[in-house]
Amino acid sequence: MLSYADYLQLLPKTELHCHFTSTMTAELFVALAGKHGVELPTSDPAHLFAYADLREFLVGFELAHDVLRDPEDIEAVALEGVRVGVEAGLRYREYYVNPQYFIARGMSYADVIDPLISGLSAAEAQYGVGFRIVVAVNRAESGAEAIRLVELMAENPRPSVVGLGMDDLTPEGLEAPERFAEAFALARSAGLRLTAHVGETDRSEAHSVRFAMHDLGVDRIDHGYRVLDDPDLVAEARERRLPFCATPVSTTICSDWQLTPDHRIARMIEAGLAVNVSTDDAMFFRTDIGREFREALPALGVDAATARRIAFNGIDAAFCDDDQKARLRSQFTAEFTALDALFQRDALLPED
Ligand SMILES: [Zn+2]
Repeated sequence: MLSYADYLQLLPKTELHCHFTSTMTAELFVALAGKHGVELPTSDPAHLFAYADLREFLVGFELAHDVLRDPEDIEAVALEGVRVGVEAGLRYREYYVNPQYFIARGMSYADVIDPLISGLSAAEAQYGVGFRIVVAVNRAESGAEAIRLVELMAENPRPSVVGLGMDDLTPEGLEAPERFAEAFALARSAGLRLTAHVGETDRSEAHSVRFAMHDLGVDRIDHGYRVLDDPDLVAEARERRLPFCATPVSTTICSDWQLTPDHRIARMIEAGLAVNVSTDDAMFFRTDIGREFREALPALGVDAATARRIAFNGIDAAFCDDDQKARLRSQFTAEFTALDALFQRDALLPED
């Protein structure tokens, strides 16, 4: 018997809004902390990931970078993260990585990126999950540091590193996308795709989303929930089919929003925006891409047809090439057909 939850769990999925460090499993986090003598508040995963808000989470997020010191640590996390994801229907993933955290710990840009690529390539060979990498500007650092980061990307080109994003908050606790406009312009002129975390919490504003769309010229938005406060911007985003990479479970922790049909993500879907769904920080929020579909989508009032569209939206929004997108679309279509046949048959069973 295939329930709706099973159907959503098995549905083929992309994941675009996914921070690499957060794809670590709790067990690997504790093991790597032991390997490098990094002291954790507790080794019990049940208590390791309790946060009052976004800022508290960000402290834990930074700590996770302390345990990734050797190339083999990064490769191990890459492989294990895909293994776990594939069990939940993962077929393609994009990773946000913050080289600035690692550079501050004495590693070079290439020390971080190259093992990441080799780990994800091994995972692709083993599990068939394709990938791209988006380098993310850490907003706790300055605009000048962000420019330096884009220069490092240009000095170390890698075919699978295709975009620039921005995450974290400024030292004042703001999104302030305008602070990084110059770095984004430089990235755009270097041919990189652009995305940005904006309009995430109640502390942010629709203005951040507007700035990212109009002034940074992003190709997609991470979170962007505050867009709803600006109806003109909603209409424009709908018209442009601008993708929003939403992360339902994280909003219950970072913003204390309940997953109901009145949630901002549900209203964005209702408004016709091109929403796709990801975990954001799976380990920290104790979620995975299966749970985002299986638990969050029904709570948001999303039906099967909309869930399939959300899965397809992820392909549309991906930064990979058109050939890979075409392959994903045919793979998803075939899997949808097989799953739909099972789901419809089982949905009819009680009436037989
Ligand atoms: Zn994020």
